Formats: sequence, C-alpha cells, structure tokens
Amino acid sequence: MSVELLINVTPSETRVALVENGVLQEVHLERERNRGIVGNIYLGKVSRVLPGMQAAFVNIGMEKAAFLHASDIIFHEEYGEEIAEQRSLQTRDIRDLVREGQYILVQVVKDPLGTKGARLTTDITLPSRYLVFMPDSSHVGVSQRIEDEAERERLKGIVEQYCSDQGGFIIRTAAEGVGEDELKQDTIFLSKLWAKLVKKKKKTRKEGIIYQDLNLAYRILRDFVGAELEQIRIDSKLTYQQLHAFTEEFVPELTERMSYYPGERPIFDLFNVETEIQKALERKVELKSGGYLIIDQTEAMTTIDVNTGAFVGHRALEETIFNTNIEATQAIARQLRLRNLGGIIIIDFIDMQSEDHRRRVLNGLELALHRDRAKTNINGFSALGLVEMTRKRTRESLEHILCDECVVCKGRGSLKTVETVCFEILREIVRVNRAYDADKFVVYSAPSVSEALLNDEFHSLGELELFIGKQIKVQSESLYTQEQFDVVMM
Ligand SMILES: [Zn+2]
Repeated sequence: MSVELLINVTPSETRVALVENGVLQEVHLERERNRGIVGNIYLGKVSRVLPGMQAAFVNIGMEKAAFLHASDIIFHEEYGEEIAEQRSLQTRDIRDLVREGQYILVQVVKDPLGTKGARLTTDITLPSRYLVFMPDSSHVGVSQRIEDEAERERLKGIVEQYCSDQGGFIIRTAAEGVGEDELKQDTIFLSKLWAKLVKKKKKTRKEGIIYQDLNLAYRILRDFVGAELEQIRIDSKLTYQQLHAFTEEFVPELTERMSYYPGERPIFDLFNVETEIQKALERKVELKSGGYLIIDQTEAMTTIDVNTGAFVGHRALEETIFNTNIEATQAIARQLRLRNLGGIIIIDFIDMQSEDHRRRVLNGLELALHRDRAKTNINGFSALGLVEMTRKRTRESLEHILCDECVVCKGRGSLKTVETVCFEILREIVRVNRAYDADKFVVYSAPSVSEALLNDEFHSLGELELFIGKQIKVQSESLYTQEQFDVVMM
C-alpha cells in the first residue's frame, strides 16, 4: 500500500488530499477566514483591573484588550486534589488574583467579535489528536463520552505511564480503541510542544503570541505520526519550509519523505484529485461493473442505495448481484471516508437470496472499512434487509463544508415541473383578476416556462384570455428559476 499526502496551499485556503495506491481517499480543508484565534496562547499584560466586574483587561498585543474574568482564573477539576484546595480562588476577589502591569500566560477561549475583545482563561490546555495536555497537573482524566469501563481503564493505564512531572492529560473521545503506540506518540508530541512553549515564554519580554494553534497542514502531519506515509508533496515553498522545521522537531521520521512540488500542473491535478472532489459532491457513484450507488445525506442519517446497471441475464443474475454488492462494499467504504459521512448509515444492497452471499458481503464491507481511521460499527442486516452501520463523526462532511443548501429547490432536491408552474400561473391570473381591476396582464417567468405557455399551454392561455376578457402577455425572464414567476397588472 502506497500512501501519499498532497498539500495545496493558497493564502485563503489549505487543502490536504490523502491518496492510497493512486486513489483519493480523504480530503481535508481549512479556510483561513474561519480560523479565528481560539486556542492561541499569549503572554498578556494586565492593563486594568475592574473590581466591579470581577474582571481584568489584558493586553495580548492585539488592537483590542482582551477580557479575563475572575472565574476563568481557575483550575480544571481533573487537576487533582493538591490543586483542588486552590479552587477557593474562585471566591476570591479579582484584586487578589491579578494586579495591573503583571504578565500572565493566557489562552483565548472566545474570538473577538465586533467591539468586544477576545475572552481569556489562565487555564491553559494543549490538544492533540487523542489527548489534551494540562500543565501543572499530574492527573489523567478520561472523556465522559468513553463509556466502557474496561476501555477507560486501559486508556488510563497507558497514558499514566507516559505522564511526566510537566503535566497531566485528558484522554479525548477520539482515543477510544486506539493503540498504545499512537497514544505514546501523542504524549511525546505534547510534552515537546509544551517544553518549547515554556522556553519561548521565558525569552519573551513583552505581550504577544506564544503559541498559535496548529493549522491544518501541521495537524495532519501530527495526526500521521507513526503512519506508513510514503511521500508528502507541498505546493508552497514557504509552507514546505515551515513544515520541514516542524517535522524535524516533532516528527523526524516524516522529514525526509517531504518535498516541495513546484510542478507546472496544479498539484490537485495529480491523481485527478480535483475531479474526484467534484464527483464526491454528486449523488450518483458509478461502479466499474456498470452498477451504481445513490448516496443521500439527510439530517438524521445517510442512505446508500446499491443498484445493478443495465439488464443482466437471468441465469447469471444471482452471481451478478453478488459481485455488484461486493464491488459496492469497496466503493461505499471509500465514499464514507472521502465525503466524511458520519452518524447513522443505512445501506440498501441489492437483495440476495443466499445466506452465504449476505454473510460474504458483510465481511467484505468490514474488510473495506478497515483502513478508515474513523471508528465504524456494522450492525448487520435488519429485518427489512438493510445494513445498518455507524461511523464516528469527526469533522463536518465534505458537502457541508463546500456547499450551501440549493436556493432553487431549498434542499428538496427536485423542482416543480414546467407544467405544474404553468398551471400555477394560470390560477394566479384568475385570482388577481378577481381581486383587482386590471386592463391586461404580463407574466414574467423562466424561459422554460414562458416557452411552454406559448406552445404546449397555448390553448389554456387563450381560453383564459377569453374567459376573463383581458389580454395576457408572456415575458421571458432569463434570471428566474423554473419555479419563480410574477403576474403583473397593467
Ligand atoms: Zn436544488
């Protein structure tokens, strides 16, 4: 298996494609505009203490002073008992907690908005893929969302071994089922990162940024620690240099596999990545055998319908159906990753009589999902013959990141037919004619509707003119969508 990352960088957007054996499997993207500063860590200087509000303004080197409330100068409950007594700090006066001119390490919890500055906490946390690092703590906590008691113990046991006196960890929900080696890599990464941050803080003499939450390209590399990545190509010289420095420090084994891509062709033309992304937004997915999938994403779940292609001979039917379903398992696994579909997924395979075939299709699906880094769970065939499965939601789906609801059909996915719209227009003319006294009417409608009114529905229109005794003009409006029209009185 050859695994490659392509990183496409523009000032406004970073996109990462994961390609396995020449086939696009995952797309990650981040837009600069949506990034904000939440998670950033600053050395701040207390500029004013406001006893009335039990808060302080802190200068973090941005235009607007940031806001630190007394209640945000606290410690995590997970910090353990030795710190717990200090929680009485909460009830103390802001004037006892900070003083003007004091330098403190703060982290942004809320982006600045309009006239408001950023909101801060002194409760610093550093997240990685599976863990959150908490300096000043020696405690290991487990996310409440990991419910299995044995799994909680296992995770805790592993992470405790790698705790240092530098800090403690919270084990994130994403860590469920993750192996020791990956967790260990995460603890090493975070400890190194914290050490670097402390060093920077010591050298810093005035207010300003100490640590910026990793952008997408860094996060991806961090998350691929220990993975069998063969090549990483980056189409921006600057980003390449930054990532090179980053991996040298944190993920040395990746450094030599990284290269700058100065190619003539856009990097996402390699392996047809750009085309594949477009295709991943369509409902229909073609299978090589001639069959196809129809994928529908709704609020509650995703449904995938498997279909055979053209007519298949009777004798070969059972075998053809089986083969198409098997092929579909591969395609489904890929689409789930590529589109990043999470939550409940219902698959309607083509009906199979043979119990053996059904079992083998389930096995095939399980096998195909094996490379997915998101956790999946297959429930098997339901009473109605549908396969129910779940896939852990991680980021938003590709469609939700890239698309808005269609303004023409408002997400319905279909349009009223030309004929339906024509009849609506005719009814509207009758209604308006009853209510108002007009000399004549002009109908503005989409070209397809106007054309139908003047051709297929010409007789209906003519009869209506006679019936109301008034002239009706039809005007084509090229910017109108098929369902849109206006009836104007003259
Ligand atoms: Zn639509």
